[in-house]
Amino acid sequence: MGAFSKDIGIDLGTANVLIYMKGKGIVLNEPAVVAIDKSDNNKVLAVGENARKMIGRTPGNIVAIRPLKDGVIADFDVTEEMLKHFINKLKLNGFFSKPRILICCPTNVTSVEQKAIREAAEKAGSNQVFLEEEPKVAAIGAGMDIYQPSGNMVIDIGGGTTDIAILSMGDIVTSSSIKMAGDRFDNEIISYIKRKYKLLIGERTAEDIKINVATVFPQARSVSMEIRGRDLVSGLPRSIEITSEEIEGSLRESVAIISQAAKNVLEQTPPELSADIIDRGVILTGGGALLHGIDLVLSKELKVPVFIAENPMDCVAKGTGIMLENFKK
Ligand code: ADP
Ligand code: MG
Repeated sequence: MGAFSKDIGIDLGTANVLIYMKGKGIVLNEPAVVAIDKSDNNKVLAVGENARKMIGRTPGNIVAIRPLKDGVIADFDVTEEMLKHFINKLKLNGFFSKPRILICCPTNVTSVEQKAIREAAEKAGSNQVFLEEEPKVAAIGAGMDIYQPSGNMVIDIGGGTTDIAILSMGDIVTSSSIKMAGDRFDNEIISYIKRKYKLLIGERTAEDIKINVATVFPQARSVSMEIRGRDLVSGLPRSIEITSEEIEGSLRESVAIISQAAKNVLEQTPPELSADIIDRGVILTGGGALLHGIDLVLSKELKVPVFIAENPMDCVAKGTGIMLENFKK
């Protein structure tokens, strides 16, 4: 453990990858997207933000892939390329010793996938790679003291998965991971607009609507926005006006699935710990925590206080940082 080693923590998310460098904080924050050329041996053309700009805008032979889209690794090689690209961007080579890397990956990742992630990090220049469970690190990053003998509940709503966990004494007591999160909200918005207006919109537009217009708590927001898409009948571009109210309706079932999963986790939790949750409340992390009204719906459904973590999209990366600073423990 040389004084010059640069330990890093990686939040390998389904939508975004963040890297924390010990002593420096978050040094990288990019979409988990890789653009490859299918006509040229799957050659990697771009990674991260540059690749994201290509989503939905590429000619047929170029595809923009999100290798961890559903919380499992869809493509090992692409995941490895992406990880290596991000780690190399940090230019760690000048340091005296190789970095230790702490990686958080989605909870559903299998042991084979874990091995692949570990190997990718080793190839990128580390000789010590540690993997850690995401909800635990999210909770730490959100400022919870999970090492006491009391119950803490965290709900991390990411792009591909929502991870729900109850932690006590540093470990996960009960948890659940479901494939209902930000991407599905975008898809629900796309289907709704297709059904109602016979208009086809892209994923980026759907995400814009989710962020700027949507609410998931009835009457909690009332804005509207003009959006553009392709008319399914005429095939021509057309624009329409959509409102918070109608988007709330289109997301209701998806949000109910998340509340139900959280209820199930609470039901499986020992009573003393669930009693603690009534006092301490639930903390929301991940980008989905920013979905307008999600805290209100969950607190109504679960009958416990719900808080949105400060900078919820940074919690896992910050959590790796806290763990790195206290590595000896
Ligand atoms: P992951 O950990 O799976 O990579 P993130 O925690 O980075 O996911 O969250 C990404 C998700 O959060 C995306 O689906 C994105 O659309 C969503 N998101 C980001 N900001 C907002 C916002 N203000 N309102 C609603 N959803 C948001
Ligand atoms: Mg995440």
